[in-house]
Amino acid sequence: MRRLADRVVLVTGGARGIGRAVVETAVREQAAVAFLDLDEEAGAALRDELTGRGARVAFRRVDVTDGQSVADAVNDVADALGPVDILVNNAGRNVYADPVAMTEAEWDQVFDVDLKAAFLCAKHTLPSMIARGSGAIVNIASLHAKLTCAGMYPYAAAKSGLVGLTRSMALEVAPHGVRVNAVSPGYIRTALVDEYFDQNPDRDAERKALDVHPLGRIGTPEEVAEVVCFLASDAASFVTGAEWAVDGGLGARF
Ligand code: NDP
Repeated sequence: MRRLADRVVLVTGGARGIGRAVVETAVREQAAVAFLDLDEEAGAALRDELTGRGARVAFRRVDVTDGQSVADAVNDVADALGPVDILVNNAGRNVYADPVAMTEAEWDQVFDVDLKAAFLCAKHTLPSMIARGSGAIVNIASLHAKLTCAGMYPYAAAKSGLVGLTRSMALEVAPHGVRVNAVSPGYIRTALVDEYFDQNPDRDAERKALDVHPLGRIGTPEEVAEVVCFLASDAASFVTGAEWAVDGGLGARF
C-alpha cells in the first residue's frame, strides 16, 4: 500500500510501543517519517534500522511537554523532510497512586504528556497545514476516556480531555481542510500495559484483562497503527472530529 506516499508524518513517542508501530507502518505506506521520543537509544536504533532499509526517517530526542523544544523540532523536521502533513500525538504516560498519595508533580506529569503535548504539537504544526489547505492530526486517546476503573483517575481525565480537544480542534480547522481525529485503544501489549499488570499483581489485572475482551485477547501495536494510518490518509477524507475505538470490542460490553 502507498496510502501515505509523499506525506511527511510526525509521530510523538515513536521509539517504542504503539508509536513505533505507527512509524513502521507509515514507512511501509511510503511516508517520510519523523519521530520524537525521550528514549535516545531506542530512537536512534530505530532510525538507523529504517534508514538502512532505504526509508526517509528523522529522529530527535525531544520532551514534547516543552513548547520551545517542540517548536524547534518541527522546524528541524521541515528542514530535513519538509513541512509536516500528518501529526500523530502518541506520547503518553500514566502514574498510579491513590488520590491522597499522588503529588501535584505526578498529576501535572500525566496531564502534560497526555494532554498539553498534543496542544503544543498541534500549535506548531498547524500553521503549515492551514497554509497549504490540507493535513491530518490523529490523537492517541484511550478506552479510559469512556470506561475506566479505580486507580486511573488522572489518566482517564487527561484522555477524556484529549477527546474533547480532538472534537473542538476538528471544528476549528475543518474550514482549512485539516482533519483531527482520535483513536482510543483498549489493552495493547506494550511496556505501558506490562507496567500496569506488574503494579497490580494482587488484582490479577492481566487475567481479568484477557477475560473481558470479546475477542479473547489483548491487541497489538500494529493493529492500532493500521487504524491510525487509515485515519491519517485520504481514504478517511470525510472523517473528522471522530473517536475510533481499537479495543477488541471491550467498549461495547455491558
Ligand atoms: P509506551 O510507554 O510503550 O511508549 C510511549 C513512548 O512515549 C515511550 O518511548 C516514552 O519514552 C515516550 N514518551 C513519554 N513521555 C514523553 C515525552 N514527554 N516526550 C517525548 N516522548 C515521550 O506506551 P504505549 O505505546 O503503550 O502507548 C502509546 C500511547 O497509546 C499513549 O498515549 C498511551 O496512553 C496510549 N494507550 C496505550 C494503551 C496500551 O494498552 N498500551 C491503551 C490505550 C491508550 P520513555 O519511555 O523514555 O519515557
